[in-house]
Amino acid sequence: MNRAAGILRSAGAILLLALSASAVEAPFPADHRTMRRTVSYAEMTAFLEGVARPGFITVTEEIRSTQGRKVFLVRLNRGGAKARFRVLYYAQQHGDEVAGKDALLTLVRDIAARPALLPEDVDLYLLPMLNPDGAEAHRRVNGAGADLNRDHLLLAQPETRALHRVARRIRPHLAVDSHEFGRDGEDYAKKGWEAWPVITMDACNHPLIPDYLKAAALEAVDTAAPLQQKAGHAYRRYLVGGPPPDEEIRPSTSEVDDGRNGMGTLGALSFIIEAGVRHRSADPSADLGERVDGYRILYRHLLGDRPWRDRIFKLAERARREPLPPFIATNTFWANVGGKVSVVKVREATTGKTIDVPTAMAMTDLVVKGSVPTPRAYAIEGTAAAKFIPVLEAQGLSWESLVVPRRAKVERVQLLRIEEPYDELYQRYKDRQIVERRPLAEVELPAGTLIVPLDQELARRAVQVLEPCLLYGLYGYPGFRELARPGADLPVSRLF
Ligand SMILES: [Zn+2]
Repeated sequence: MNRAAGILRSAGAILLLALSASAVEAPFPADHRTMRRTVSYAEMTAFLEGVARPGFITVTEEIRSTQGRKVFLVRLNRGGAKARFRVLYYAQQHGDEVAGKDALLTLVRDIAARPALLPEDVDLYLLPMLNPDGAEAHRRVNGAGADLNRDHLLLAQPETRALHRVARRIRPHLAVDSHEFGRDGEDYAKKGWEAWPVITMDACNHPLIPDYLKAAALEAVDTAAPLQQKAGHAYRRYLVGGPPPDEEIRPSTSEVDDGRNGMGTLGALSFIIEAGVRHRSADPSADLGERVDGYRILYRHLLGDRPWRDRIFKLAERARREPLPPFIATNTFWANVGGKVSVVKVREATTGKTIDVPTAMAMTDLVVKGSVPTPRAYAIEGTAAAKFIPVLEAQGLSWESLVVPRRAKVERVQLLRIEEPYDELYQRYKDRQIVERRPLAEVELPAGTLIVPLDQELARRAVQVLEPCLLYGLYGYPGFRELARPGADLPVSRLF
């Protein structure tokens, strides 16, 4: 065999490999920007099972959904132990919001074909379809009818429990949740407009997340703008609310029942990406490729370069060890401090023209209206233990069950009322817990009381789940509501 034939033969072998890699699996076009149809659960399953490569791309079944479908975890790692920067991208908690999943699958295809796309110091984990039951039924909720992205406090659903288990196992330095919103809601349509952006991103914003982590995340939201502009995609920070200039717009909730703040309080630089869908158009999938491209730009942007990753690695490691602050913010709301005027872009539906609308209703400052001193621990009454233990377990918290009575300085908290109606003035949702703290007293806690100390690693999660003075907490949920009787003490007390 001469040299030329040898080269030809190895080139042929490479070609064959490339052909088998692309021909077998990818259920989407070579150019993701031309995607017109989302990848189904069955197509994704076949693709992922075919794309695995020992030591490089690992595909495992993390759990089964409530209806028995597989929830896949994909790990891409070509640096072995050198890959110290851990990243978790998860998508499709809401079954009918598809572009994030599609973008992640095209990313897997591209990295499989060109491994150099994945930096050697990155350990990349993907949960591309967290809610396969919802995906199959084209609906938001999971197989049990639950909204997964409102379940991060209780973790009552297997899919959200699995996400948190994965996050505690890998401890990501960076995490991204992936959603879609409607660009052409009724309130916009009435004005002849649609929301301008195709792709948006926002950061975690819970008061217990250290400021330096939130600032670094917002910086990444801003620095993505020129990249999206270059690709021709309308992009801004993700804000919720109605059309300007009269309706309030603001960042997403600062509560912890969603993935963004859930992962943020585990110490990750945590984001949500939302792509804009035209639900009223004849074919809402017509611009799927554009949304997927917008997603991919953000996923790549967040991986950054080596100096960025080293910086975020340090910030996230620091956030994880950060002691609790001396006070816990219990009552917060979004406001426009000083009445700043900002400009919101909208798109004229008939012409596609972009219009700048000035408004003073952009509420982007998180105001703290109430705080309580941080306790040393929480005590849960023995009679409520059976309800609380599954939540403590799902959250990975440690606790002690008193075998004999113990004297302690205890602050009990009385429930005055639970407010049901939506609050128009502060744009707050229902189930607000209005409480009164009782004077600190030395009491004997009976045997069977659960003690949850706050010197544990996941103290921030413990506060979010248990702090009885929070305006929003567990007592809005079925199963816990009956533990909260107006005029009586809540079953969780604050220990000093
Ligand atoms: Zn969503």
